[in-house]
Amino acid sequence: MSEFLDATEANTPENLLRHLTEITRTADLDTEAPALTLEGVGRGVYLCHALAALSGWWIDPKTQRDVDPQDPTVFAAKLALVHSELSEALEADRKGLADDHLPHREGAEVELADAVIRIFDLAGARGMDLQTAIIEKLLYNQYRADHKLSNRSAANGKAI
Ligand SMILES: [Mg+2]
Repeated sequence: MSEFLDATEANTPENLLRHLTEITRTADLDTEAPALTLEGVGRGVYLCHALAALSGWWIDPKTQRDVDPQDPTVFAAKLALVHSELSEALEADRKGLADDHLPHREGAEVELADAVIRIFDLAGARGMDLQTAIIEKLLYNQYRADHKLSNRSAANGKAI
């Protein structure tokens, strides 16, 4: 049970969505965004993992055996590749580079896309419910005292 849900409410995607949608309504934001995010992220996880699997990224090229996504060393290696995409985004942005493969786009933009694709693939391989986790974390963050501007402005507050 999450602290922001009523004690009688189950921690379901529907209840999480209802609360986050209410926050967007109160803030005069797009009230369809939470539900579309839940669906879109879910579809993104499916698509990124399906295409990666189709391309053979979950088969060991030496042994031709399936790679086990539950293996902690596999998880660590795949995470390291996410890190590498983020480092590429940093370098591209600090040098103002366009992407090598999609030269009409900023390098940082494409490297962030690579990072998200890798994250979605990994979540899909692990069978993670990333879409609901994102909705739940967005909702949780709305209630965090250390995320309030007034607390961030105070001594020892989070500057960024
Ligand atoms: Mg890249």
